[in-house]
Amino acid sequence: MGSDLSQQALGGLESGLPTRCTDPRLGNLVLVREPHPNRSRPTEVRTGRRDNKARAVRDVGCRPRAYDHIVVGAGAMGASTAHHLSNGPGRTLVLERFYENHPFGSSHGRTRILRTAYAEGVAYVPLVLRARRLWMRLGREAGEEIFRATGVLLAAPSGSKSLASAQSSARRYRLRHELLDPERAQERFPAFRFARDDAAFWDPGGGVLFPERAIRAYRRLAHARGVRFRWDSPVVRWRPLSGGRIVVSTATREYLAHSLVLSAGAWLPTLVVALRLPLEVEQQTVYWFRARDRTRGSYRTMPAFVWYGPQGGYHYGTPDVGDGVKIGGNEGQRVRNLARRPPPSSRELRSVQRFLTDRLPGLSSEPRRQVRCLYTNTTDKNFIVDFHPDHPNIVVVSACSGHGFKFASVMGELIAQGVRTGRLAPVLASFCLPKTR
Ligand SMILES: Cc1cc2nc3c(=O)[nH]c(=O)nc-3n(C[C@H](O)[C@H](O)[C@H](O)COP(=O)(O)OP(=O)(O)OC[C@H]3O[C@@H](n4cnc5c(N)ncnc54)[C@H](O)[C@@H]3O)c2cc1C
Repeated sequence: MGSDLSQQALGGLESGLPTRCTDPRLGNLVLVREPHPNRSRPTEVRTGRRDNKARAVRDVGCRPRAYDHIVVGAGAMGASTAHHLSNGPGRTLVLERFYENHPFGSSHGRTRILRTAYAEGVAYVPLVLRARRLWMRLGREAGEEIFRATGVLLAAPSGSKSLASAQSSARRYRLRHELLDPERAQERFPAFRFARDDAAFWDPGGGVLFPERAIRAYRRLAHARGVRFRWDSPVVRWRPLSGGRIVVSTATREYLAHSLVLSAGAWLPTLVVALRLPLEVEQQTVYWFRARDRTRGSYRTMPAFVWYGPQGGYHYGTPDVGDGVKIGGNEGQRVRNLARRPPPSSRELRSVQRFLTDRLPGLSSEPRRQVRCLYTNTTDKNFIVDFHPDHPNIVVVSACSGHGFKFASVMGELIAQGVRTGRLAPVLASFCLPKTR
């Protein structure tokens, strides 16, 4: 069996990525440069100097190089898995379609929110608590700040189900938390504007993660322990051999491995076509805004936040960590063809600007920066982390649905453990593959 990638998926994203905004409704906003995916990145961390084209010529006819584990994708999940695999025996290879911290997938954009009281379900809480410990450990090992304990403010019209779920998960796991009425919330968090019928929930254990730093730290530490990273190496297919090993092919090389982790983000379905994964890719645009009124308190020390609206929508944001307050919403655009992503929609920007006017009036409503990013959503917005039903040495990973980053540290640990033992921890049981065949 194996996989077949469509030419479109292989073709890269070049055509769909303008560097300057062309929609007059968005004004003269400059998009963050999303560079041509085939330019100016390292080809291999181990040597840094070799050129993949020269290698491709030389590699034709070579015997496949053998590894114990191959990880496909060096986003949050793949980088963490490689790091955790490097703590044990065996040779690991990571194959990445683009380059480190590229802006075409799901793990870029400078900040991510880590909430501990989990509105999506109490089952996530033990995972997030372990994840936070591992992020802090990564920070110590890497010698840089990966997690900043800003706390997280959740706000919503009173009676909101999301706040009630967050509260019940906090109670169940005895997490520190506070429920605040609008007056107290206003006093504590002056940057925001609360309405009379709002309620606020304070999660002091939450904070902000720095995704690019985390991925770089994982790669650096894993590489120091012998993991090889090959950039610009999209996997085009894999096939099992009769002895149980797997042949993994890029356009220029073949590799052999005893186990394979498919953590390819939005591209995952193209690697396991036969599984017909019920995943939908959604493009989200996030924006950075500068302060125009500093009398409302510091935007550097404000907490991360998620603000739920009355109709089930939400906006979220992270404090100014050097380039303004970052804000996004949940009005993304469906992406059917990864090679032709739509330009950012003015509807998304208008929704964020309305939110600013209502709730963060001290920020300028003209964004200074914007970035597109992909959600890979399952139907119930949970994750998929499971062995391939036909191949017990292949793990299929889709831990996104727009809230997966915070878990990457613990997912990597559990996936690496699963790869070594042939069994996934029971805590992952609710993320099994849907029965679609
Ligand atoms: C705007 C936005 C805001 C978010 N906010 C939060 C938040 O606040 N908190 C939170 O916890 N989560 C958040 N998330 C979700 C989180 O970022 C994702 O869950 C996480 O980054 C997913 O990581 P990944 O490794 O699965 O995917 P990716 O980061 O996309 O990594 C997959 C990698 O696989 C590579 N690849 C694909 N195909 C191949 C192939 N054939 N061969 C080799 N390599 C391949 C890709 O190039 C990519 O690098 C947010 C997501 C977005 C988009």
